[in-house]
Amino acid sequence: MFFTPEDVALYAKRVRQTPRQVGEEMRGWRWPEPPLLPPSGRTLPVSDASGALCQTGRYVYLSYVKWVKAPTSPEAARGSLIHEAYAESVETVRKLIYSGEVVDGNALRSAMLDEYYEAERRLSEYSSVQDFHNVVKAIWDRATSVFGASLDRARERARGRRETLAAATIPFLVEFPIDGSLVGLSPNSRVDALIPNVPLVVEMKTGARRRAHERALAGYALAYESQYEVPVDFGLLCYVRVEDKVSDRCELLKIGEALRTEFLEERDRRLQVLEDGVDPGLPKFCDRECPFLSHCGGKVVQ
Ligand code: SF4
Repeated sequence: MFFTPEDVALYAKRVRQTPRQVGEEMRGWRWPEPPLLPPSGRTLPVSDASGALCQTGRYVYLSYVKWVKAPTSPEAARGSLIHEAYAESVETVRKLIYSGEVVDGNALRSAMLDEYYEAERRLSEYSSVQDFHNVVKAIWDRATSVFGASLDRARERARGRRETLAAATIPFLVEFPIDGSLVGLSPNSRVDALIPNVPLVVEMKTGARRRAHERALAGYALAYESQYEVPVDFGLLCYVRVEDKVSDRCELLKIGEALRTEFLEERDRRLQVLEDGVDPGLPKFCDRECPFLSHCGGKVVQ
């Protein structure tokens, strides 16, 4: 998740060596025609369109037709904190390099120490998370260590402009905005990270692995293709654990036709629920992590 230019070079090699075939009709820029054409003019966030939690789409009905507010579970709040602390740490490193005062790893390490309490203050809306300080500190330390070393390597080859040095230290963008409205997704979608040089869309997850997370990568790829008309054939799905330290495992996934089709079927089912405004009912079994479980009274697999 804290990608360096060396990581990106390895991903670029693997991407180049992996065969792929995606038909024109499955590209995001073919949004005016089926199967890309959405069944409604309404839009959904990528995570809701990809069907992470609810098989029938009742989640969408409750959230966007009935406007029932889902309670935030402690796990979801901790997940949001991890995402925000990650974005905050990467943004702070970039800001420090742009300031011109930080030109090597030692200077970065000491400036990140100075910035730490201000970052905790900015993240204070998550302070009810039980191990708030541990989470922020672990992510901050990891960003400081990875980018301190990356900056030292970058300054050997990227003298001159601050922008050059920042780009050579941090070769990706966090919370990259994508307008997904042409393919039925939110106009202000944000993918967790974008590695533009490959290109790779990156989803970061803190819970259990789900097929819906792969579909979400396809959703971002289609949205990106619809906006920029550039093919996105691969994505990274990163599962992150934060205890005293951060551990992450990123899988390089092909965003082929099968995954695109699966995403589009889920998207269409949920957009149809939104369009019709009719309760689709409960699935046979509900997801035990669904925040609407007590509202719906659904059964979970024991
Ligand atoms: S509790 Fe069940 S039916 Fe209700 S939104 Fe969640 S998964 Fe869907």
